[in-house]
Amino acid sequence: MERTSIIRKTAAELRTRPNLVDYEATRRGFDWDIAREALAGLPGGALNIAYETVVRHAGGRLRDHLAFRFLGQSGAVRDLSYGDLAALTARFANVLRGLDVVRGERVFVLTGRIPELYAAVLGGLRAGCAVSPLFSAFGPEPIATRLNLGQGAVLVTTESLYQRKVAKIRGELTTLRHVLLVGEGGTPTDVPGTHDLGRLMAAASDDFPTVPTRPDELALLHFTSGTTGTPKGAMHVHGAVATHWATGLYALDLHPDDVFWCTADPGWVTGTSYGIIAPLLHGVTSIVDEGDFDAERWYRILHEQKVTVWYTAPTAIRMLMKAGPELAQRFSFPSLRFVASVGEPLNPEAVWWGKEVLGLPIHDNWWQTETGGIMIANVPALDIKPGSMGRPLPGVEAAIVREGKDGLVEVIEEPDVEGELALLRGWPAMLRGYLNNEERYRKCFSGVWYLTGDLARRDADGYFWFVGRKDDVIKSAGHLIGPFEVESALMEHPAVAEAGVIGKPDAMVGEVVKAFVSLKKGFEPSEALRMELLAHARRKLGAAVAPKEIDFATTLPRTRSGKIMRRLLKARELGLPEGDTSTLEAGA
Ligand code: AMP
Repeated sequence: MERTSIIRKTAAELRTRPNLVDYEATRRGFDWDIAREALAGLPGGALNIAYETVVRHAGGRLRDHLAFRFLGQSGAVRDLSYGDLAALTARFANVLRGLDVVRGERVFVLTGRIPELYAAVLGGLRAGCAVSPLFSAFGPEPIATRLNLGQGAVLVTTESLYQRKVAKIRGELTTLRHVLLVGEGGTPTDVPGTHDLGRLMAAASDDFPTVPTRPDELALLHFTSGTTGTPKGAMHVHGAVATHWATGLYALDLHPDDVFWCTADPGWVTGTSYGIIAPLLHGVTSIVDEGDFDAERWYRILHEQKVTVWYTAPTAIRMLMKAGPELAQRFSFPSLRFVASVGEPLNPEAVWWGKEVLGLPIHDNWWQTETGGIMIANVPALDIKPGSMGRPLPGVEAAIVREGKDGLVEVIEEPDVEGELALLRGWPAMLRGYLNNEERYRKCFSGVWYLTGDLARRDADGYFWFVGRKDDVIKSAGHLIGPFEVESALMEHPAVAEAGVIGKPDAMVGEVVKAFVSLKKGFEPSEALRMELLAHARRKLGAAVAPKEIDFATTLPRTRSGKIMRRLLKARELGLPEGDTSTLEAGA
């Protein structure tokens, strides 16, 4: 196949007429009230995500339609219709009520991608609680930090995750009132200080009046990382659902008979906004794979489940590419009609690989935890420029900005100039604050603009191209990792005097977490100590966050004000020019 710089598309060539045919006209005619009007709402102007996604469908013609198909690790399949899901969410909401958990309290969920997670997230929302799904590969430290920051009152987890990760930190979780355990292997759990969720659910009523939350009431807390300090709890409200609806329509092109597969874990924002909310809003069937990535398994799922719309990530695509085309050729994907990807830069080769191996190019799109939903996308009927993130969706105004003379940002009008990617504030899923951190929240805005922290450029045709991050956060396999959290965990080891953590470019996962440590007096670098530090970090942080590489250094470069210069560590690691080192402490 000839690889051109543009992949031309027209709506007429597509098997299914896309929801967004005329990009310019739809953008001109769009305003967010159109999306709000598509929602059912509750009396008195109330709005609840659980009602929009589940309850209203269960009371209508989608009652018996499949909402989720769960594919178990070992082949077991569990189907939940919209009616089943409504009953489960009601039961979970009643369980909360029975434990005196009230509207506004925070429910955390730490499980794999099992039905209980989906019932707890949606049931918690239905009960008017704020919900925070955590990634089950986190270690005890990130779990404790997030639960304490978010003042978690309830934690839903499995018996084995509890024993491995939570039991030992339980005493530190000062706001936690109830732990609800999912039993494994079908047996009830009986762990002191916890409740058996299965037993409580079985005894609960499957009728529950959805709490009439306000559109601006806190619904979801998603933790994300910055360069410094603790993770940031991005606060999202029930009204965000208007963005989930519009982006499900335009960016993912969901149609009623779709079988949709979002491969992201709900512990990350994509797995909640698009693994739970958007497909349910549109009444489609979602596939949830409880297993980890496996190339053959993934091709089999696409084939056997007749997936029509697939939303995945660049690392996964690169791993499929590595597995070779022969494996893909053992399967066919006649049902597949649209493939999208998010989370990290998608190489042009990956876009073409999709076209050559799956028969469809991959459509990159861009957003972040703070935006709550997709902002910039390649959509079915628009030409693709491989390597570009696409164009702003209806309702989204994006610009490239730089700092102006008066301290306010200045929009860069000329094309192809690098600057910070900014979004005009006011879309419904925009974060409404960082938990307990008003100052950090204020820093994200300048006048009417929300500043994303990403560097990008816009070309003359209005396509946006990702350039990099402004800060030091690390993107590994699509997951955002804060270097500070990793440095703090390393510093807790008795041998470590100081630690600096960077993202080291990696062809497969984008960046791997690499740490540099200097040792305290009395400790000498050795292979054994390196292994011990790697294991220490893994135990504390979990596999998703822990460094993969550790180097010893006698001292780490610091600014005169004492901050570790990660930028310099990175430049030295990569053999790049060191840039401006005027603030470097003497001798470093
Ligand atoms: P998160 O908040 O964890 O979803 O991470 C958001 C960040 O991931 C963005 O600010 C970008 O740095 C990066 N990102 C997301 N989507 C893309 C994309 N399509 N291309 C390049 N980087 C992306």
